[in-house]
Amino acid sequence: MATTIEPWLREILRCPNCLSELADGTTAEGTPELVCTNTANTACGLAYRIEDGVPVLLIDEARKPR
Ligand SMILES: [Zn+2]
Repeated sequence: MATTIEPWLREILRCPNCLSELADGTTAEGTPELVCTNTANTACGLAYRIEDGVPVLLIDEARKPR
């Protein structure tokens, strides 16, 4: 199952919570997700799931860092 995001879209995506860049990650279920790179001060670090190649950049829907 290939779930890729368009490169141009991937470039401009930012965390809606803190506007930091997003890194590619994988959920516990093995599906791709985008993870906020702002983990230095533990202020954010939210992870956003990707549904059908479309990142769900909703803070309410995001997975909180452990
Ligand atoms: Zn963030």
